[in-house]
Amino acid sequence: MALPKTTMLQTKSLAADLDKLSTYEAVNHHVLTASDQAGLTDYEKKIITTLHREVRVELPILMDTGKWEVFTGFRCQHDNTRGPFKGGIRYHPTVNQDEVRALAALMTWKTSLVDIPFGGGKGGIECDPTQMSDGEIQRMTRQFVRRLGSVIGPHTDIPAPDVNTDARVMAWFLDEYAILNGHEPGIVTGKPVALGGSVGREDATGRGVMIATLAAMAKLDMLPEGTTCAVQGFGNVGSFAALLLHERGLRIVAASDAFGAVYDPRGLDIPKLIEHRKNTRSVIEFPQSEPLSNAELLELEVDVLLPCALDNVITVENAPRVKAKLIAEGANSPITAGGDLVLWEKGVTVVPDILANAGGVIVSYFEWVQNLGSFYWRRSRVEAELGELMSRAFEQTWELARVHKTSLRQAAFRIAVERVVEAKRLRWMQYFEPAKRH
Ligand code: NAD
Repeated sequence: MALPKTTMLQTKSLAADLDKLSTYEAVNHHVLTASDQAGLTDYEKKIITTLHREVRVELPILMDTGKWEVFTGFRCQHDNTRGPFKGGIRYHPTVNQDEVRALAALMTWKTSLVDIPFGGGKGGIECDPTQMSDGEIQRMTRQFVRRLGSVIGPHTDIPAPDVNTDARVMAWFLDEYAILNGHEPGIVTGKPVALGGSVGREDATGRGVMIATLAAMAKLDMLPEGTTCAVQGFGNVGSFAALLLHERGLRIVAASDAFGAVYDPRGLDIPKLIEHRKNTRSVIEFPQSEPLSNAELLELEVDVLLPCALDNVITVENAPRVKAKLIAEGANSPITAGGDLVLWEKGVTVVPDILANAGGVIVSYFEWVQNLGSFYWRRSRVEAELGELMSRAFEQTWELARVHKTSLRQAAFRIAVERVVEAKRLRWMQYFEPAKRH
């Protein structure tokens, strides 16, 4: 079922209402829309919009100044019907319970869409790691592991990096877990290769964004040469996506980070920009580029837009001014539910987060498989298997959207929701079919 045809005025008011939803409510809005399309019962809708468990911890940390500070951390375990909870840990001042719930739910739908045997979870600590020393971040990470206790484990809940966390943080996480429980490399993914990490994990999410973007461009008859692209967020996801698309002939004209954006209509030299960011810790003041604001970057006259920073950056307010024909969501939830409706009405193709940025959790799955089997793969195998899973999920989503004339987001959520509901039916048959209860 396509979205009902509405007048421009109705769309505007519906989109404005949708933008009032919290990030978690917005994810459930997409789940419920897909559930209606899949013909799920009210009971089924209720259980798939209900989370499994969440933990909130207070973390007293001795700071370098000699004073104690208390940080708040969360771990939300959304669903484990298809396998252990899986999802990253974010360190950021805006981390809050609703955001963590939304991110955990997205992991359930992402792992289901790409059909890997995991559920969904997410964690975060409300902190500003840019203002903390390595020692403070390490002490906070170790305290987080201790407070999470038995809630996590290599067959229970497996964390990974997210915003402001990386392989180094995962190494501390692994070490603290080993002190408490014995060495288990499968407790986290995204670790350094020397500690059982997978080759190809660091660039996996960006590589997945590249695969999804090129696949969508092929469907839209867009050739890489001459296609312009802007990337918001030049961190792990954004910088690798930009580099890989640059290598395939796209012209990356703008890139940004938390400090600002840079623009060059002739195309930025992405390897040099990566070097510049390494040396200066930001993309700003990149030689021969013009400065730009993050808001301006989103509204640039480009063919492809990759929001790869934080959530809710394209809303009902700025979506009408977005000029890109194609958006691939490198970040999680970068488009609000209202913004999404506006873009759909404008005819913009949006490759949703649960598809576009699934490369990271796919290679995390490979890493976990390698840890459990103590047998390590070559990069060529990681990349080939990643390409296969991404392409399969993309084709299934595109086809369902085409047949039912829906957005890619609705199609992706429908595939994901149907798989989880099927697994729940098989595990809990008596609840789904009361007549057969004995
Ligand atoms: P990161 O910390 O490596 O990079 C984030 C980037 O965004 C940094 O360059 C930062 O400066 C920039 N940024 C922060 N605030 C900004 C703002 N207001 N405007 C513009 N840029 C801003 O994080 P990451 O791992 O690249 O994650 C980015 C997004 O991708 C998040 O939504 C995350 O959940 C999602 N994601 C990450 C992975 C992964 O494997 N790392 C996997 C799937 C999804």
